[in-house]
Amino acid sequence: MKFNTKTIHGKQHPDVAYGAVMPPIYQTSTYAQTTPGGNKGYEYSRTHNPTRHALENAFASIENGTFGLAFGSGLAAIDAVLKLLKPGDEVISTNDLYGGTYRLFTSIFEDFGIKFHFVGMSNASNIENYINNNTKLIWVETPTNPMLNIIDIKATASIAKKHNILLAVDNTFATPYLQQPLDLGADIIMHSATKYIGGHSDLVMGALVVNDKELADKLYFIQNASGAICGPQDSFLALRGIKTLHVRMQRHCENGKAIAKYLATHPKVENVYWPGFKNHPNHDIAKSQMKDFGGMLSFTTKGNNYEEAIKLVENLKIFTLAESLGGVESLAGHPASMTHASIPKEEREKTGVVDSLIRLSVGIEDEEDLINDLKQALG
Ligand SMILES: *Cc1c(COP(=O)(O)O)cnc(C)c1O
Repeated sequence: MKFNTKTIHGKQHPDVAYGAVMPPIYQTSTYAQTTPGGNKGYEYSRTHNPTRHALENAFASIENGTFGLAFGSGLAAIDAVLKLLKPGDEVISTNDLYGGTYRLFTSIFEDFGIKFHFVGMSNASNIENYINNNTKLIWVETPTNPMLNIIDIKATASIAKKHNILLAVDNTFATPYLQQPLDLGADIIMHSATKYIGGHSDLVMGALVVNDKELADKLYFIQNASGAICGPQDSFLALRGIKTLHVRMQRHCENGKAIAKYLATHPKVENVYWPGFKNHPNHDIAKSQMKDFGGMLSFTTKGNNYEEAIKLVENLKIFTLAESLGGVESLAGHPASMTHASIPKEEREKTGVVDSLIRLSVGIEDEEDLINDLKQALG
């Protein structure tokens, strides 16, 4: 089955009770038993729920994986992966990581005796410098937020395999439409399904997908024991989102490309960060591991003026000034005053988050309307 069919039919079947084509929202906490332990596969909804189960199968299918797990948020999914570790274990992670992931690692798990190394991975071989006998996990995000850096998943996977270390890839920005990390050698895929998977800015959810049965069993145990599951209503919404993922992503990519090219020619624009440009430092890797370049991009304006950047995002009319990404509507953000405001100016500027940097999550509206909106705001 090809990807565009999998999003609709992958590991799905009509409901057993009445043949409903969409899985019903099983809004129930418990299930009747005929005799103690005599049930139809469901006992209690923290452990299993038929709507969530249908969604978990869909996650596995679209990522070419065997086992899917759904959580109450992307961070809850990451939390479950970190609970595979023990005090003394070490993690090597991307240095320009999603802020919430960085906070979970440093403000929660460091207190439980886990050590993190945040390293530049644009050159995968740099990872080897941080590996020792305690290294148990490599955490990769690609493309990264908000600088759109690209990390070579295949090269990272071969380093991880050589040293018997788990490789987890946060696939939120790319989605399985663009890149399938398990096929490239990763062990765990993580999603904030809040973004492109849900796709309509109407839910918060996380997911994991793995191939290895033993690893899946450990994660299912943590999912049930820690209990950070998502509810049946949100599971239904995410399932509905997945069915149009390929159509939405195609348009996100087309609009992203048009806007990146427009901005690159604008006299007031200094830099455009988008992996589709030939002069992007890891363009060749992006081209080899991604089907297209996605709908996320960032840019800076000449003069690098903080107030001007704020005025620009305030003047946008179709782009909404908001955090988050991946919905059908276009969003704009100013990292220096929003997502990265808590990071000291000198620190954030080291990774490229300068005062005039603006991040766009390009939606699926009309391309010309979006370009005209940027044109008037830049003017
Ligand atoms: C949003 C996001 C997360 C966190 O997911 P939540 O659903 O908000 O908990 C993790 N990684 C990336 C890349 C994200 O964009």
